[in-house]
Amino acid sequence: MATAIRVEMLPARLGDCLLVECLRPRRRPWRMLVDGGPADTWPLLQARLDRLPATDPTIDAAVVTHIDSDHIGGMIPFLASDFAREHVRDVWFNGRPHLSRPRSAPRSVAQGETVTATLTGAPGAQPGMPWNLAFSGGAIAAAPAPGIREVSIPNGPRITVLSPNAPRLAALGKVWFETLDKALRPDHERPLPAPLGPLGDLAALAARRTAKDSTAANGSSIALLVEHRGASLVLGADAFGPVLAESLRAVAQARGIPALAVDALKLPHHGSQANVIGNLISVAPARHFLVSSNGDTFGHPDDPAIARVVTGAPSGATLWFNYRNARTQRWADATLTSRHGYAVRYPTKPDTGVLVRLPVRS
Ligand SMILES: [Zn+2]
Repeated sequence: MATAIRVEMLPARLGDCLLVECLRPRRRPWRMLVDGGPADTWPLLQARLDRLPATDPTIDAAVVTHIDSDHIGGMIPFLASDFAREHVRDVWFNGRPHLSRPRSAPRSVAQGETVTATLTGAPGAQPGMPWNLAFSGGAIAAAPAPGIREVSIPNGPRITVLSPNAPRLAALGKVWFETLDKALRPDHERPLPAPLGPLGDLAALAARRTAKDSTAANGSSIALLVEHRGASLVLGADAFGPVLAESLRAVAQARGIPALAVDALKLPHHGSQANVIGNLISVAPARHFLVSSNGDTFGHPDDPAIARVVTGAPSGATLWFNYRNARTQRWADATLTSRHGYAVRYPTKPDTGVLVRLPVRS
């Protein structure tokens, strides 16, 4: 079956680094890079970019979903690279110019505004780069529900902005400088010992009451619905579950359908229980669920989050982990997969990540 969308989930430790290609007959793929993982992912990303076809390695959209170090860390050297200057057509990023009222006084503007400087060509930075061109230079934000914010890409995919919404973008404005400062001087990271306890009753695990994500940076995440030749993919970034669910419900409503069945959903926030809520799985039932984390520092993915996926997903769904480790391997237990009717996939080699191919349907 012909492939419409290829999604590559690189091993970016605790972070996200995704290469998405929308394949087109007789043309090069429309290509999108979503985040660069933490800073130490850059050599791996660079090696991956080196393997793009030399004849046309264009990145049509380089998306910096939000300013946490596990997403922006590898994007800073990427955006400053010769490769980016030559081959990136558009950078999608909500920076200071897109926020209404950054309130606090700058503490480390010279360092903290690296990405903004790269994009605008501030003194000492790379020449200005195309920035949010697909959005006429404005902020990338979802329309207030029940509205829909769609971007038309000539000869490319149909893209709908799911997050952030206006309140989440405003919340980032209030803490912009502190958040950026923190992102660029991340807390000391630590590998967590994998919990080896049994998973037990998944319905009880899924129903466990867990706190919701309330951090301004995660809430400001750019999350997108990408549709191409009948295939569909939700890129959840680290967005809030209720924001994603509300936007996806608005899309379904606008199309007159009860729920928006999608091919693949990249779980928000690395499969955190604070972001993966049951509503999200029911409003956008998917065939493939993508989980991007090795568990460093935060122990993602959380068991209740994956239990919500497994118990709420359509039968026959596949979980894709970009790391095989003690934490993720428990989900391949034969009793669980047969009882709940799902499959699990891991990278074939530890350093390659996983590649998911979504077929043409139209
Ligand atoms: Zn993250």
